[in-house]
Amino acid sequence: MAEEIYQLSATEISSRLAAGKLTSRAVVEALIARYHQLNKKIGAFTSLDEKDVLDQADASDTRRKTGKVLSPLDGIPVAIKENIAVKGQPLTCSSKMLANLVSPYDAHVVEALKSAGAIIYGRLNMDEFAMGSSTENSAIQKTFNPWDLTCIPGGSSGGSAASLASGLVPLALGSDTGGSIRQPASHCGIVGMKPTYGLVSRFGLVAFASSLDQIGPMARTVADCELLLKVLATPDARDMTCFDSTQRKQLPVAPEKSLRIGIPKGLLGKGVGAEVAAATQAAIDFYKSKGATIVEVDLPSSDLAVPTYYVVATAEASSNLARYDGVRYGHRSANAKTPIEMMTNSRSEGFGPEVKRRILLGTFVLSAGYADAYYVRALRARSKIRAEHLAALEKVDMILSPTVPTPAFKVGEKVSDPLQLYLEDIFTIPANLAGLPAVSVPCGKSGHLPVGFHLVGAPLSEHKLFAAAQLFESAHSFANQQPTL
Ligand code: GLN
Repeated sequence: MAEEIYQLSATEISSRLAAGKLTSRAVVEALIARYHQLNKKIGAFTSLDEKDVLDQADASDTRRKTGKVLSPLDGIPVAIKENIAVKGQPLTCSSKMLANLVSPYDAHVVEALKSAGAIIYGRLNMDEFAMGSSTENSAIQKTFNPWDLTCIPGGSSGGSAASLASGLVPLALGSDTGGSIRQPASHCGIVGMKPTYGLVSRFGLVAFASSLDQIGPMARTVADCELLLKVLATPDARDMTCFDSTQRKQLPVAPEKSLRIGIPKGLLGKGVGAEVAAATQAAIDFYKSKGATIVEVDLPSSDLAVPTYYVVATAEASSNLARYDGVRYGHRSANAKTPIEMMTNSRSEGFGPEVKRRILLGTFVLSAGYADAYYVRALRARSKIRAEHLAALEKVDMILSPTVPTPAFKVGEKVSDPLQLYLEDIFTIPANLAGLPAVSVPCGKSGHLPVGFHLVGAPLSEHKLFAAAQLFESAHSFANQQPTL
């Protein structure tokens, strides 16, 4: 049976465009039709400007006819998470606070995509200000898991993962502070990578926790993810943590026979579901069968990762979100008599409950008398976690684990228990605290729901991680599977 356009990978679309077998307009028209058919059901997109995306497609087709193709991504739609700035488009962060904000400029990654000729295609739902693991914290709408519409898609980049899994778009951008690209990727059966801290500019990404935040690529295949990252990962002086051209040399790819994979000690205990454990073990066995050496690594401080993250991330968030005061932009309360009342009421009305919880926590851990006991200790734990990971990664090429301990849960199941939700990120958070690249790759099912495994590597080992992921993907038929909708 011929594949439908919506099922094609970006790599395949790119080669059909190059061969003259497809036009960008045909791709965009097919995706718009699919959007009308499915988006109400899935809730992945918050907006799509149909005229604008068709105009972009026509411009790409004209470039192609006149021999002025800009890159392999020319004419290919890329959807953008609601916290990444696109000039002239909403930048709500799925919050009531920014409900009417239209971005006056493009993020660095959006500029890079535009220069590559990619089509900036629609905005994707997320947890408010990227705080959450289920996309249930969005003030705009709910997003459902395309594999089971009664389940969450993961979060905070839930719209990104769900749009890919349901064939609404071939490529998407997410952001990842503690797992927000990789956890939804795992729950929706797609590929998602959080790059090394500093590889991709954060200019134009609305800040949550600046020492952890990274923008990253999400796609249905490893090759597509790599293709997208290549365009995003360019120097940018506007983000002072972004590597310059001399600092971004990738580590060489490890040949499969000499690949060394670290498995954290005691890995598959700790609340990992039986089917997730089995799928992870099967991935380990696969690499062994390819000649890789499996080595146990000791990362004792990883147990501290979740509490450390919830101190560091909330501290930074409380400071970053102080700018929403109703004065310069964002929601302004109509019920206030004094300036202070205006600021207080604007924040009380504009932020949702999870964002308020984080601001309160973050303000507390930074407050006089408590900062040493919480924030400073968390920074020490963070240094230890990083040092242990770097030491382990001297001995192995990458560390393998599940991405999430259990598959996607039912919508509403964990809303009243934030601590349960925080545990979703137990395997993903260490890579953020340590600034390391990490990827989630589909590796099987738990019941009818997808699960992924997780690879973490040394700084600038993205290519190495992609090569290992590719090795796995090309040997497994469930990779790039799509749900029936
Ligand atoms: N789930 C984590 C949180 O709620 C991670 C979010 C993220 O990576 N943006 O903070």
